[in-house]
Amino acid sequence: MSAGTLTPSETRVSGDYIEQVMAQVKAKNPAEPEFHQAVQEVFDSLRLVLQRHPEYREAKILERIVEPERLIMFRVPWFDDQGKIQVNRGFRIEMNSAIGPYKGGLRFHPSVTLGILKFLAFEQVFKNSLTTLPMGGGKGGSDFDPKGKSDNEVMRFCQSFMTELQRHIGPDTDVPAGDIGVGGREIGFLFGQYKRLRNEFTGVLTGKGLNWGGSLIRPEATGYGCVYFAAEMLKTRKETLEGKLCLVSGSGNVSQYTIEKLLDLGAKPLTVSDSNGVICDPDGIDREKLAYILELKNVRRGRIRDYADKFKKAIFMATDIKSDHNPLWNIKADCAFPSATQNEINAKDAANLIKNGVKVVSEGANMPSTLEATKLFLENKILYGPAKAANAGGVATSGLEMAQNSARLSWTRAEVDDRLHKIMIAIHDNCFRTAEKYGTPGNLVNGANIGGFLKVADSMLDQGLV
Ligand code: NDP
Repeated sequence: MSAGTLTPSETRVSGDYIEQVMAQVKAKNPAEPEFHQAVQEVFDSLRLVLQRHPEYREAKILERIVEPERLIMFRVPWFDDQGKIQVNRGFRIEMNSAIGPYKGGLRFHPSVTLGILKFLAFEQVFKNSLTTLPMGGGKGGSDFDPKGKSDNEVMRFCQSFMTELQRHIGPDTDVPAGDIGVGGREIGFLFGQYKRLRNEFTGVLTGKGLNWGGSLIRPEATGYGCVYFAAEMLKTRKETLEGKLCLVSGSGNVSQYTIEKLLDLGAKPLTVSDSNGVICDPDGIDREKLAYILELKNVRRGRIRDYADKFKKAIFMATDIKSDHNPLWNIKADCAFPSATQNEINAKDAANLIKNGVKVVSEGANMPSTLEATKLFLENKILYGPAKAANAGGVATSGLEMAQNSARLSWTRAEVDDRLHKIMIAIHDNCFRTAEKYGTPGNLVNGANIGGFLKVADSMLDQGLV
């Protein structure tokens, strides 16, 4: 895929080395398939890079970049509303600080394991490098499930979680943010406890409330950025989003603001989902329906099936865990914005998307496509924006929040949105040009992986063996 201008023997030499390191990664990190998948995808892009830069192999950059700088795992005990003791597991992966303090979200979801967070932290290293801002990579979270918990239970959990985490983070060390299950409510409780324990009011978390150090546009940033990235991809074929039919999965933070920006740009979003099922609204999700989704998900914390009771033409399809495909990806459309979770598009889903005429896939979620699905998108010349490029707007705007906190001032909504937009254009441009430079024009997977890798690898070389 990424062999570019290599001769067959050169390809074999760097390929053999990459396979050796990959085998070590699998042996040293057993039972972490998502981590293996994320590493494999980056390594597949690096063959020509390693051929052109023998110094990376000499300095064992690959062996070092897959090894977290620090892993923190801890017990999180808390009392539920019945006064019973509950125990969860907390994590923070401090993956790579070559270009800045560790930065990356916290995920609260029952599926959280060490392997899931290692994949996310690894992806974050390259994503943060692409943003043009000085941020290293990290990720953390817990197997705690906020769904069905009272606000008081969520607060007690967050306070216990931060009681341990606070000794490992700081505004110049490691700056967590939100992710699945961690929104404004959770960031508030976490920030309050940090401040109480440390007696410091600093920018130690991003995604904060506007009254206490947050940035305008941070809640919108991942979704907006993902749509800006899709618009840039379409521009290379002299097209726009105007009038395009769009599939969006999930109904959380990223999905909500993806839909809002699609409406701003004249597109027609047709779908949303949650873990219980899919809504398809043939009339399109307009601003009134979007306001309903925001209230349902962010205030009432309800299930997406309620949408079909409220808007009669919409169809609800319940999740069938035995099915080999997701019906959401089998609807006729022009663009797809996977915005729920990892591996939500398998090879069959990718084939369905292609068959139904989808020309653009812009990934809001992290690693939503399996390796087989990604391969199909590339082979079929889909305009495919991989997550570490397409969803980098969230962390980029977190970087802007850090800059505002350090300067102790706040920028206007228009100023932050303009910076976000320019960053997304720059990320697309970097990926597009890097893909060409390394002999695979149009392959933004290679462009993102190589573009993100070079900056981190060169910084690691500069800083010696640490
Ligand atoms: P939210 O918690 O706000 O929303 C997540 C949505 O995805 C919910 O609708 C949820 O449904 C659905 N979902 C989660 N897990 C599953 C699952 N296993 N199967 C089916 N549906 C699922 O999270 P975000 O919107 O913040 O995050 C969504 C994705 O975007 C994640 O991959 C995240 O890593 C990525 N991302 C987020 C960023 C941010 O700034 N928030 C930045 C960059 C990437 P349910 O309520 O039923 O669980």
